[in-house]
Amino acid sequence: MIVTLRQGADPDAVRKELIARGLWVSPLSDGARVAHYVVSPASTAVSAEDLSRIDGVASVAAPPSPHPRVSAQGPVVDVRGVAVGAAARPVFMCGPCAIESEERVFALAAKVSAAGAQMLRGGAYKPRTSPYAFQGHGEVALRWMRRAADTHGLRVVTEALGEGDVGLVAEYADLVQVGSRNMQNFALLKAVGRAGRPVLLKRAMAATVEEWLLAGEYLLSHGAPGVIFCERGIRGFDPSPRNLLDLGSVALLAHVYKLPVVVDPSHATGRRDLVLPLSRAAIGAGAAGVMIETHDDPGCALSDGPQALPPGELRGALDGLRAMARCS
Ligand code: PEP
Ligand code: MN
Repeated sequence: MIVTLRQGADPDAVRKELIARGLWVSPLSDGARVAHYVVSPASTAVSAEDLSRIDGVASVAAPPSPHPRVSAQGPVVDVRGVAVGAAARPVFMCGPCAIESEERVFALAAKVSAAGAQMLRGGAYKPRTSPYAFQGHGEVALRWMRRAADTHGLRVVTEALGEGDVGLVAEYADLVQVGSRNMQNFALLKAVGRAGRPVLLKRAMAATVEEWLLAGEYLLSHGAPGVIFCERGIRGFDPSPRNLLDLGSVALLAHVYKLPVVVDPSHATGRRDLVLPLSRAAIGAGAAGVMIETHDDPGCALSDGPQALPPGELRGALDGLRAMARCS
């Protein structure tokens, strides 16, 4: 909210009153008028009327949002009957980094479903740093994945890597993923929006929260029925974990902006022994769910083996996270 002061009012006195009500306050003055930009944390319920009664306040107004559709979206997105964003029921998106073969994806879908996941993840089109690395099996992998998911009552989340893949991916997927390397590929965002499916929008490695939200605005303004934001780690200065999981931004999206946000601890850390601790932290911070890479033979995985959780460990992990979400 923008709190504008009466002429001659003491900005410090008003600032103290705002802070005393538990608000975050930053100055917002343009020379002619003095104002405070005020953000209300989730735990603090204050009304505009309450603020307008503070001595020295002339008016209280909501600033226009630079991403009105994202601001209006609400905290829950429906993915073919699975509500993502209902806090007490976390959503689990599990599966391999890449869809490697028909047999493997069928076997894994059975285990992922038995462990309590609602969605099968996996790439048919893989964004790889090296052009010589495995690029994904393409359309045939989409077909395998869809049939495996349907057989085991799972939704499909998979990435559209380029504009040319969008139509095909949207045919097979319930939730179309935009990868972190493509978060600001605006032509792709427009094409994915036009496909009319809900979207999982991964945060780019060096994107600010505002840039991430504006990428979501591209999707919604071009027709996407809903956007789920996915924090997967930003690039830090220390390569010890693969990336730097920014849980502050997860809490900001979940609690202040009231948006559906999930966390991918697999790409965030690059190592399977940190996936569960960071999944717990993610749920604690307000994530509506987690995306966990799973592989039944991680040593032979065609990509990201070191971060894949064996399915045998998945059930216990998901049970624990569900129990935790119910208590928080
Ligand atoms: C993925 O989820 O398969 C992936 C490539 O993730 P990211 O875009 O976050 O690197
Ligand atoms: Mn991966």
